[in-house]
Amino acid sequence: MKDGILHGLLCDGQAAIEIISARDTVARAGEIHNASPEVTAALGRALMGARLMCGRLKGEKERLSLTFKGDGPAGSIIAVAGSGGVLKGYAAEPGARAGFRADGKLNVGGVVGSRGTLTVARDSGSGEPYAGVSELVSGEIAEDIAKYYLISEQQPSAVLLGVGFERAEVVSAGGILITPLPGCSQDALEQIERTLSQLRPVSELAQFYQSLEEFLHDSFWEIGARSLEEKQVAYYCDCSRERMLEALFALPKSDREELAEQDEIEMCCQFCGNKYIFKADELV
Ligand SMILES: [Zn+2]
Repeated sequence: MKDGILHGLLCDGQAAIEIISARDTVARAGEIHNASPEVTAALGRALMGARLMCGRLKGEKERLSLTFKGDGPAGSIIAVAGSGGVLKGYAAEPGARAGFRADGKLNVGGVVGSRGTLTVARDSGSGEPYAGVSELVSGEIAEDIAKYYLISEQQPSAVLLGVGFERAEVVSAGGILITPLPGCSQDALEQIERTLSQLRPVSELAQFYQSLEEFLHDSFWEIGARSLEEKQVAYYCDCSRERMLEALFALPKSDREELAEQDEIEMCCQFCGNKYIFKADELV
């Protein structure tokens, strides 16, 4: 299936559903950062989570970032999604390993850590940016995001995220986010819960279906699934020479002066690895 995100409704419009398929995006993230399978899975889940949480991105300058600060060997994991197709992220220690869990799955929680925080920063492009923090549950990413919704936004939600591997290659990546809309009945919530409990792992579903439409209708037809809009998804960093220079100018003057002692200053984008070279006189 091609990478994309499908927005839809469940239970006659009582809940919103977003489904993402992002195999190429996740594989690209792993490749850029030369990440271990565990970190690729963690970063991939975080990227899909960020994109799902952005929803339909109606504003021109919307942006959402997730920062997982766990006590695992990967260190902080950052994922950013926003308008203009931005979807990017990195892990502090991309080569970190944690092996496999007892059930044979990659130990994502082990590499992220189960103690720490998830910070969600939202900027709608107009008005004040907003940030909320919650404690990590397991470092498995999806559970951590669900808890964030419950604690910080007082919103129960269902979050499923999965990255499938075969011999260290990403073969599938998928995610589902369901959020009840105002006035959602208890009956609808129970129907959704029942349907989710019977669903196969989301990474398998993303590999099985040819399209997101088919994925949605096949999995949720019993509870009145309706698709609204599909959008493309890709790993995309919006860094530029101008933005890098702005970042340099945000440094204290003394730091800039110290940097300017070199003839050339090389800056590398943490998200995509692009290099930018500045001359000393550009910094003062
Ligand atoms: Zn970049």
